[in-house]
Amino acid sequence: MERASWQVKPGASVALKERDAASTAGAPGDRAATDAAVPAMHKLLLGLQDRLFAESARSVLIVLQGIDASGKDGTISHVLRGLNPLGTKVAVFKVPTHEELAHDFLWRVHARCPAAGEIGIFNRSHYEDVLVVRVHRLVAEATWRARYGHINEFESLLADAGTTVVKLFLHVSKDEQRTRLDARVANPAKRWKFQESDVTERARWDEYRAAFEEMLARTSTPAAPWFVVPADHKWYRNWVVSTILIDVLGEMDPRYPDAR
Ligand code: ADP
Repeated sequence: MERASWQVKPGASVALKERDAASTAGAPGDRAATDAAVPAMHKLLLGLQDRLFAESARSVLIVLQGIDASGKDGTISHVLRGLNPLGTKVAVFKVPTHEELAHDFLWRVHARCPAAGEIGIFNRSHYEDVLVVRVHRLVAEATWRARYGHINEFESLLADAGTTVVKLFLHVSKDEQRTRLDARVANPAKRWKFQESDVTERARWDEYRAAFEEMLARTSTPAAPWFVVPADHKWYRNWVVSTILIDVLGEMDPRYPDAR
């Protein structure tokens, strides 16, 4: 499958209800067959990353967004299994500190973008500034609305500087989120992940959906497109993410430098 099947067309509106979060379209087979295909994909990815690192001229930034329990952490573990930690940087974006809030919203983000040769992964990102900030009315509407433009300009700057930006929206259904949150409560190994806010945030599902839909429609650009990854099935999500990354890096076609 090509990545275009999950890509949000620049300028198109997005209705998440029309996209099946439980889709397994294009997978090599059932869960077992798909899982079995992944190690070879990791190998391919590692080879591509090695060339990117050696070339040391361009970089890749993977941005992960999704509602609570959509699988951001699990996706990062999956991606990292296929990469060399030496050339990989993960950044997690939490509630901004006082110092961060005293700057423009991109200040903390720009500082954590990948350097030449690196693959950067953002667990949450500058998109929180048009998501949680919008849903909780943390700033005036005119302020967060202006951010779509700021974000597009910012990502265009990154692209011009040699960073390929790959934005992954992990699309889970409301039912699947419930199952995962219940599992967090029931399973002692997962309970540490559960927070009261998971329940209060879930009550705002429709507001988040509206915020995600507008984010996808307004900020999927040719330079930095969004991909809607059906994420109800973790095995399928992992395969889709690997497929997209191989496709993107393959197209970049990084080269080993000539011997000096
Ligand atoms: P997890 O990603 O596992 O849920 P946390 O429980 O620490 O990790 O959640 C981080 C919190 O930080 C989220 O609730 C997120 O919405 C919030 N956050 C991230 N960026 C911002 C921001 N710019 N403004 C306000 N809240 C933010």
